[in-house]
Amino acid sequence: MQPHDTSAIIPTHAHWDHLSDIDDLRGVPVMVTVAGKRWIDSKASGTEVINSFGSLNYQNYEFDGGPCLGFPRSDDVWGDGAVVIVPAPGHTPDSVVVFVSLPSGARYALLGDLICN
Ligand SMILES: [Zn+2]
Repeated sequence: MQPHDTSAIIPTHAHWDHLSDIDDLRGVPVMVTVAGKRWIDSKASGTEVINSFGSLNYQNYEFDGGPCLGFPRSDDVWGDGAVVIVPAPGHTPDSVVVFVSLPSGARYALLGDLICN
């Protein structure tokens, strides 16, 4: 995968094991909420790797899309339902679930570490 093949990176949360390859995609927007960026900037335990990359191309998003699949708020990234992000704090303050819907109708939920605790 090359950076020019990638529109954006949507981390499920900022723990190191979910972002260790992000440096290979330098310049690609990294989508985070304001609260997520605040957590990264706090240099909390587990954010050492993302902070070690220095300045990244952060792009803020908000959960302004209303309820989705039982979650009270959402962000429909492209406005077509193909990629929808919902907040799922608990594991970390910035944890999200990313729903990806394929043209076939199959829908996947990228959970990050949501089921770890
Ligand atoms: Zn984690």
